[in-house]
Amino acid sequence: MINCCCKNYFIYFCPKVLISCTDGTDRSIRFNPEQMKVLKFGGTSVGSAERMKRVAELINFPGKRLVVLSAMSGTTDQLVKINQALGRKENKEAVKLIRELEPRYFNTIESLFKNKEQAAKASEIIRGHFDFLLSFTQDVFTIEEEKTVLAEGELMTTEIFQLYLEAIKMPSALLPALNFMRINENSEPDMPYIEKHLKKELSKHLHTELLITQGYICRNPFGQVDNLKRGGSDYTASLLGAAAGADEIQIWTDIDGMHNNDPRYVPGTYPIAELSFDEAEELAYFGAKILHPACILPAQKKNIPVRLLNTLQPDAMGTVITQKAGGEAIKAIAAKDDITVIKIKSERMLMAYGFLRNVFEVFERYKTPIDMIATSEVAVSLTIDNNTHLDPIVKELKSYATVDVETNQVIICIVGDFLAEKHGYAMKIFDSLAQIPIRMISYGGSKNNISLLIGAEYKKAALLALNKGIFQLGGQK
Ligand code: ADP
Ligand code: ASP
Ligand code: MG
Repeated sequence: MINCCCKNYFIYFCPKVLISCTDGTDRSIRFNPEQMKVLKFGGTSVGSAERMKRVAELINFPGKRLVVLSAMSGTTDQLVKINQALGRKENKEAVKLIRELEPRYFNTIESLFKNKEQAAKASEIIRGHFDFLLSFTQDVFTIEEEKTVLAEGELMTTEIFQLYLEAIKMPSALLPALNFMRINENSEPDMPYIEKHLKKELSKHLHTELLITQGYICRNPFGQVDNLKRGGSDYTASLLGAAAGADEIQIWTDIDGMHNNDPRYVPGTYPIAELSFDEAEELAYFGAKILHPACILPAQKKNIPVRLLNTLQPDAMGTVITQKAGGEAIKAIAAKDDITVIKIKSERMLMAYGFLRNVFEVFERYKTPIDMIATSEVAVSLTIDNNTHLDPIVKELKSYATVDVETNQVIICIVGDFLAEKHGYAMKIFDSLAQIPIRMISYGGSKNNISLLIGAEYKKAALLALNKGIFQLGGQK
């Protein structure tokens, strides 16, 4: 049975209290219990029969709900390996990897469905998916087919889960994400298309309150199966929340909200109760894995609160992300890996204008975003996180400058509300990092972020040192 402390019940029965106290503004007047909530459950949250049963309990509350599911944990990683084996033409290895994935799904079905007919129906559907995966080992494999293989995880989870809802007599419908999720030629979400086609799909189920769909997967402008990049189910949830005008987006995962530091490296981290959209966006972009890097923006544009919640501990408050959030000045630290720094040095830069424009144009032509930038009179250093076009970029830059490239760098990002009139934050940060060689510093670009570039070998030491210096928390992990 549903836990009555669950936030959804709380919101439903006491909308005024919760909504007015979380985002600072009184939205209770325009709160409409008929409005939709989007709830996204990540890989761990749907990672076994037990977890799926738990999700079914958590979504069992009144009102329109759009539930976005990821693939069962570990599945997408395995599908990536299958693609790699197929790409190397090692078809026997691919068959082995597919066979490794199978038992998990059939065991889940066995534990979920007590009724034989229902179990047989679910098994037949999943058998079809595995036969489909095996069909790629029978023929020549092309790069275009990789995304089709990757989509299988989310397709399988949602189909099993929706059949389970049918089995426990929770009325629901499955919305195929491939009918409405689409990216454009720049690999950006095609919002007008998504809005139009989501509404069309929703209109087929006006009397069904509980709707299930796949995270992560989409189509490209040519109609081929594509995806929103790893961790993309969070992005699906916020895009759908924005497209449907939802009143809240909930991201349910395996931790009780956004923590003040990366719990994978630092012991004793704690959840942050409130974050602003800007703060959450910086943290997600700069490596806080709990959120897909781009998933805050769609919610921010429509001013829809995003709540981070823990499936394993549903009563925990988690984190609420809204337009405005108070709290401590320095909120959290994150680290972004696999950064490349490019140093461009030229005498022609000295007292000249137009040089930086030329540099930026090169990156623009190769659609490669720049994260950090530092300039001196004759040199500019900048960082990128996508090396796809590194060689042609460097070749072009070398035609008018000396260029040095170093890979395997990390950006450490300290996020908070650094208002100009408050003193001492920078000193605290640099004091903490006295033993760490810092390669680049970015301070003042936004009031929410101080970024530092260091070699990857110093990442853990830097996160621990900052934890101690800023939050007075010690310990090793
Ligand atoms: P899901 O499969 O539900 O999408 P993810 O694994 O993508 O879950 O994200 C949750 C994980 O993010 C946590 O288990 C945690 O290890 C990691 N993580 C990294 N940085 C943070 C942070 N600052 N706060 C919370 N979790 C973080
Ligand atoms: N299943 C996808 C991945 O593992 C998307 C997600 O989980 O958000 O990256
Ligand atoms: Mg994730």
